[in-house]
Amino acid sequence: MSVRVVARIRPLLDKEADKDTIVRADSAEPGGPHTIVRIPNPRNEAEDFSFAFNSVYDQSTTQETLFTSEVAPHLKSLFQGFDVTIFAYGVTGTGKTHTMRGGLKLADRGVIPRLLSGVFRRGKKITKDSGGKTTVHVSLSYYEIYNDKVFDLLEPPENRSSLGLPLRAEANGKTVVAGLTERACVDLKDFEKMYIEANNNRVTAATKLNAHSSRSHAILRVKLTQVTGDMVRQSTASAIDLAGSEDNRRTDNGKERLVESAAINKSLFVLSQCIEAISRGDKRIPYRESKMTRILSLGQNNGITVMILNLAPLRSYHLDTLSSLNVSSRAKRIEVREIENEVVFKQVPKQGSHSLASGNAQRQPL
Ligand code: ADP
Ligand code: MG
Repeated sequence: MSVRVVARIRPLLDKEADKDTIVRADSAEPGGPHTIVRIPNPRNEAEDFSFAFNSVYDQSTTQETLFTSEVAPHLKSLFQGFDVTIFAYGVTGTGKTHTMRGGLKLADRGVIPRLLSGVFRRGKKITKDSGGKTTVHVSLSYYEIYNDKVFDLLEPPENRSSLGLPLRAEANGKTVVAGLTERACVDLKDFEKMYIEANNNRVTAATKLNAHSSRSHAILRVKLTQVTGDMVRQSTASAIDLAGSEDNRRTDNGKERLVESAAINKSLFVLSQCIEAISRGDKRIPYRESKMTRILSLGQNNGITVMILNLAPLRSYHLDTLSSLNVSSRAKRIEVREIENEVVFKQVPKQGSHSLASGNAQRQPL
């Protein structure tokens, strides 16, 4: 089982061009790769806080670079039968949806369409190389968790019960969402049609709720089935656009918001605890303690998890950014250090000193 926790700083948008940038990517050694995020101490701006990650991507990072560095390397494992889970975590407005979904233009496409494209390409190659003996099947589920209820995004909104879908424990101990649509998908065009339609559904359903999408977790599950004779190998890639991590209580204390906020805080807290436990190599992962981590069986199979912390460089996000940095770097067990200058700065642990990817050798082929 392996976990990577990486940060991505988004650029200033056109309308923010005159704003201050307070979040910076840095390296542990001059000329080294970016592994550190620096942000001023809000109580004393002469001082910086620094947070270390497996990797840090600055504002110039393209969608392609992020995918090539953090997701593409796991496609092979996915086809070997391991589950791959990619989370986008962060405050609303920091680029989670941009990172996962992205724009329609080819260069703007996010992790999800690129992942699907990679899956189809590799699947075709496997079938071809096996002389047609191995067939590869891809199916999709897409759902959201809102206030701890599960809603199927492949169903039109009018067919969704407001109670959400129930969970069911299977004989093998896994938890599944009962009645969740699973749709076969044959190529990238097929996927895009389904995905765009489902995202439109999500928006339509959300008009009654202000900014609903930032308060729900959207989970896309790609189920991969490889069949060779009577041998079947199954694995899942999950891509999750998490609810915004900001503290809603600070801006609005309406009752509905408080309920949402409590549900979001609980599930994000459990998620960070799971990631922390996995990175420590613990036997016990507290995945049963939230619906999201339970459905994902996070940490229950020898899979790969990548958590992308999205950051906006703006001063107006200062406190929320700090709190999201605290949560994710705790997930990676790296201490926050106050630093005043470059000399102290060198004491920040380097990437590799908290190796998280050591569990690969334990993976068993199916
Ligand atoms: P979130 O899903 O975290 O609320 P969004 O993905 O909607 O945030 O991003 C907020 C805004 O910033 C959007 O207009 C988005 O297009 C833009 N944005 C985010 N990340 C980038 C990036 N890396 N490059 C260019 N624009 C970005
Ligand atoms: Mg979003």
